[in-house]
Order: sequence, then structure tokens, then C-alpha cells
Amino acid sequence: MNVDVVVAGAGPTGLMLAGELALAGVRVLVLERREAPQRDSRALSLHPRSVELMDLRGIAEGFLARGRPVPGWHFAGLPTGLNFADLDSPHPYSLFLAQSHTEELLAERAAELGVRPRRGHAVTGLRQDVDGVDVEVRGPDGDYLVRAGFVVGCDGGRSVVRQAGGIGFPGSDSTFSAMLGDFAQVGPEAVRRAGEHGVLAAPLGNGATRFVLPDAERMRVPVSEPVTEAEFLAALRRATGSTLGVAQPRWLSRFGNATRLADRYRNGRVLVAGDAAHIHFPAAGQGLNVGLQDAMNLGWKLAAEVKGWAPAGLLDSYHAERHPVGQQVVDNTMAQTLLLELMLMPEYRRPVAALRAVLDDLLGIEEVNLRLAGRISALDTRYGTAAEPLVGARMPDVVVGAGRRVYELVRDGRFVLLDFAGDGEVARWADRVRGVRARVPAGHPALDGVRAVLVRPDGHVAWVSRSEAGAGREEALREWVGAPAEVVA
Ligand SMILES: Cc1cc2nc3c(=O)[nH]c(=O)nc-3n(C[C@H](O)[C@H](O)[C@H](O)COP(=O)(O)OP(=O)(O)OC[C@H]3O[C@@H](n4cnc5c(N)ncnc54)[C@H](O)[C@@H]3O)c2cc1C
Repeated sequence: MNVDVVVAGAGPTGLMLAGELALAGVRVLVLERREAPQRDSRALSLHPRSVELMDLRGIAEGFLARGRPVPGWHFAGLPTGLNFADLDSPHPYSLFLAQSHTEELLAERAAELGVRPRRGHAVTGLRQDVDGVDVEVRGPDGDYLVRAGFVVGCDGGRSVVRQAGGIGFPGSDSTFSAMLGDFAQVGPEAVRRAGEHGVLAAPLGNGATRFVLPDAERMRVPVSEPVTEAEFLAALRRATGSTLGVAQPRWLSRFGNATRLADRYRNGRVLVAGDAAHIHFPAAGQGLNVGLQDAMNLGWKLAAEVKGWAPAGLLDSYHAERHPVGQQVVDNTMAQTLLLELMLMPEYRRPVAALRAVLDDLLGIEEVNLRLAGRISALDTRYGTAAEPLVGARMPDVVVGAGRRVYELVRDGRFVLLDFAGDGEVARWADRVRGVRARVPAGHPALDGVRAVLVRPDGHVAWVSRSEAGAGREEALREWVGAPAEVVA
């Protein structure tokens, strides 16, 4: 075996996954078709859970230094925004950060852990057998094979890995498109006027301003048709009454509402994550975020499988946990897109305006707003349906004694056993679990009466004990972390 895992694609998902695998000591090879990193940025935001993921690995600072926190977000462009500021998170905001910066920072992280993408090398096919996968690659010097234990397709919506790996991608093609244009930076007045007319405009912080424009006359144009400057400016004039003084386009692009979800995230030794597993209209800016979260869920499970300690079913739980999240995102983006598209159709404009007004009114109710904010921020992602409310949810970032935050304890990618009643002894699992003698934090009702919590490497809760004697601890460790060390050896 040349490598343990081939990751196809060095976009945000592939880079995040590469870092996670390397952290766990897995030999990983990242193959990237492009010769140089992408300079244009589709995504502009890291939502709260994604910033938390960086915090869980101790790398949030670099992201915070380059991004700009904004206290809320939107749903379907409704006037009443989603209030992220009241979410229970150390990062209750969306971090406005261009995708190119996110990728750069993730690439730096992967490089620190010893992984540099092999650029200019495209995966062209694969064949799996019981022992491994032969990955077919086309590089500058010709075609070659890489033998790996697993291959993960992080190679975007048209994923070769997904297709060659026999994973279906049911859904619908694009029927509605919008345009984006990055122009030389314009002043705040132009941004304000664009916003008044429903055109999203945002300074990118690199001397450019992004305009996003759905347009009734051009919304049926196929995404494959390039956007011209004249087309964009004409649409901007239709929407706002002027071209707002924009000039010098740096990037013009068309994107659509093709919506598809992989029918399985794993087929044997082939897995998919990010856009390779789900595509949808970029409503509320979720795609990149979900990809990072897929990678965080998959990394430690795949590492466990490679290292030979994965309990039965652990790797399959990647599909079981992340496919429903993909489904939820596909559904909420379809709903949002319809609310935008129908506004552009004269026959629906009036009733849809009424529907939007009703929804906007509902968003003014705190509980409703929090519900949707929890979903778009991904803070409400909970795996499974255990009766114990903490199990499957993300562990809150509480201080558990001596000024130690839980998120700091997870940085090395091991499980953390927070022992609120004993000495935190995990001896025979110490290679995979960090035992911590912890104090119950004040002011967190969800933790009242809790005696022990097993936190997974991705920051979700695996197991909770409320029993005096700590009953079930060994069973929980075996269930999640596998056999203790001497049995593995
Ligand atoms: C207009 C627009 C705005 C958006 N805004 C947001 C936003 O604000 N927030 C958000 O979260 N998301 C947003 N998204 C979505 C986001 O850009 C994507 O979800 C994200 O890029 C997916 O990351 P990925 O790594 O899974 O795939 P990609 O970014 O597509 O990366 C895939 C990588 O794989 C490489 N590759 C492809 N084929 C091969 C191959 N055969 N072999 C090797 N390498 C290969 C590609 O070159 C690429 O580098 C937006 C999308 C659009 C279109």
C-alpha cells in the first residue's frame, strides 16, 4: 500500500479532511487537478459551527485575524435576519471570509501536519477490491496508479470518485440561475443602494465588491453560458435603475439551483464529502460549511479504521450521521430558492410577496428565529435520537476546571472523557482518550447532574453518565473507542 488514504480534491473539504487524517497519524495523499490554488472565491462565510471546528483544533486565531465577524445572517433574503448573536457558542457570528483565504489557511494547517497537495494531478478513475483501491491518476508526466486503503472524493459536484465509485447522485438539474460579479471596490453608498433594491452587495476586503443578482430576464440562462459584462450591467440597471458606478470586473460567474444528494456517502473503500456528496443553490451560504463539517465527522472515523481500532459500524456511521444533514440542507436551500425565484415571476410576485411577509413576521418571534439560526449555523446538528438530550449534540464549550475549556482539550484529536465524579482514569484507552478530572461548570442546566461525558474527536457527545457509580463507562468506551490497548496489541 503506497498510502492509507487518497483524498481527491484540495478544496476546503479535501484540505480539512487531509488535516484531520494527518493529525491522527494517517498517511494521506491529496491529489488536486488544478495546478495552482483557486483565487476567485465562491463562498464568503464561515458560519458558527465551522468557526467552532477551527477552535476545536486550536487554529481559529488565523481565521479570526483575517475574517470579519457579522452577528447574523439571512434566510431567503428575508428582511428580518437570523440572529446568531444569541446562540450558545463561543463564536456567535458568521465570519465573513473569502473562500480563497479559508483554503489558504486550511492548506497551511495541512502543510504543518506534513501534507501538501500534489497539484496538477487529476483522479481519472478507480477500482476497489477487498484489500484496497487502485486510484487512476493523470499527472503532468502521464498516467499512473496509486494504491490506497481508501479514497475520499472531495472533488466537487462533478466528482469523478463518486461516479467511478458507483455512488448515485439523484436530484434535479438547474432550472434557475443567478449571476455574480466581483468589481473594483465601490463606496458604501452604492452598496446601500444595491441592498435597497434586493441586490446583495458586499466588499470583499481585497479591493473588490461582490454583487449577486438574480434577474427575471436572465434567470433561465443555463449555467454553462458565460456572463458578459454588458449582460451583468444591464441586469444591475434593471434591478437598481443604474449601474451604481461599477467597473473593472474581476470575475463574472453564473450559478444555478441544480440540487443533488449522494444516495450513500460510502461504498466500501470509496467515500464522498462536501460538494461531491451534495449540491444545491448557495442560499444562506451553507455548502462550504457543510463540507468542513462532513470532513470533521469523517476524519477520525476513517483514521480509526485505518489504524485498526474502529469499533464495528463506526465508519458506516459517517453516512448515517451526515446524509440526514445533507438532506436538510438540500431541503432548506430548495425552499429558500423558491422564495427567491417566484418573486421574479410576474404571475407569482404578489402572492409570494405576501408569503414572504408572513414568514418575515414569523422570523420576528424569538423561538422561530433561534430555530432557523440553529439550523443555518449548524449548531443544532445532533446525531442520533438518544433519550439523553446531550448525546449526539455538540458539547458546549464550558470551562471544566483550572480555566480549561473543553474545546482546548480536544485539540489533539483524541476523545475526551470528562470525569466530574472521579479521577479521569482511562488507562487502557489512553492512546485514544484523554481522561480529565473535571468540575461541573456553573450555569449550564444541560450539565446538571452529569457525572461523566465522553466527547468525540469532532466535539459531539458520545456518551453521558448520570449514575453515581459511573456505570456503563467501560461499555461506552468499548462501543466508541474500541478494544483497550492490550487487546489491540
Ligand atoms: C456563487 C456561490 C456562492 C457560494 N457562497 C457560499 C457561502 O457563502 N458559504 C458556503 O458555505 N458555501 C458557499 N458556496 C458553496 C461553496 O463554494 C462550495 O460548497 C464549496 O466550494 C465546496 O467545497 P468542496 O471542497 O467540497 O468542493 P470544491 O470547492 O468544488 O473543491 C473541489 C476540488 O477538487 C478538485 N477536483 C475536481 N475534480 C478533480 C479530480 N478528478 N481530481 C483531483 N481534483 C479534482 C477541484 O479542482 C477543486 O479544487 C457558494 C457557491 C457558489 C456557486
